[in-house]
Amino acid sequence: MSYTLQILGSNAAIAAHHRHQTSQVLTMMQVPFLIDCGEGTQARLKKFKVKSQRIDHIFISHLHGDHFYGLMGLISSMHLYGRKKELNIYGPPGLKEIIAIQLKYSQSSLNYKINLTEWTPGESELLYENVNLTVHSFPLDHRIDCSGFLFREKPKKRRIKKGLLEKDISPLKIIALKDGKDVLDDDGNVLLANDKYTMPPARSCSYAFCSDTKYTESILPYIKEVDLLYHEATFMEDMHDRAEATHHTTTKQAGEIAKKANVNKLLIGHFSTRYKELEPMLAETKSVFDKAELAIEGEVFSVE
Ligand SMILES: [Zn+2]
Repeated sequence: MSYTLQILGSNAAIAAHHRHQTSQVLTMMQVPFLIDCGEGTQARLKKFKVKSQRIDHIFISHLHGDHFYGLMGLISSMHLYGRKKELNIYGPPGLKEIIAIQLKYSQSSLNYKINLTEWTPGESELLYENVNLTVHSFPLDHRIDCSGFLFREKPKKRRIKKGLLEKDISPLKIIALKDGKDVLDDDGNVLLANDKYTMPPARSCSYAFCSDTKYTESILPYIKEVDLLYHEATFMEDMHDRAEATHHTTTKQAGEIAKKANVNKLLIGHFSTRYKELEPMLAETKSVFDKAELAIEGEVFSVE
């Protein structure tokens, strides 16, 4: 499987230097997932030609405004554009109340249903699954409850080696081989040994989104060896103390965590407004972990 990640915004706190607050669209097996929804996300979706009505799943990492102030506007626009299908939102405790109170005082009732799942702070939970993939939350270390999200393709079946099996072999035998079993005769003797006729499964793709967090190795089990890791890097290393105090990460620390997790590629984002130029941030990250890139708004990252 392959997937794409499009960055809609990656600035911290406020919009500045033509950069906007956090939001991104991950499209995995044709399913688009919106991750965080900073102010103006619907405008970014339009600009980058992402059809918002195709989005059925929205994941919110925490309730700092730069990660979800665009949500109510998007919900409202979906209604005005005539949405009928249900919208699934996965967010922190309190988000349900925030949405309800805005609808209540604007005396609005939506044409469509919102299913809101509030994840449990401090725990990793399965939030969503379909036949192809799962999405888990995992705890980050921020000033308020904050969650990362791990998107992972389900393990695949073993692959049949070409040209070794009889053409008229029964589908049941194929299924058994793909499941890793030997095919036996009625007396229990091995007819087709699995390792002779099959190869290991193709690898499964994964993406980890680490929103606002201070450097913490507690996330390593969740992000280990992912194809692509998005990790915030709000400050450069000389602002280490400020990062610590505000529960954010520095460029070098983001590189450090990517190295320890042995990920294939690192994307850094959530850039502080104090940095107009981002190249020095990338250079500092790369001094620790070379396979790093900037999460620049509008860019699409593909994983094959
Ligand atoms: Zn935050």
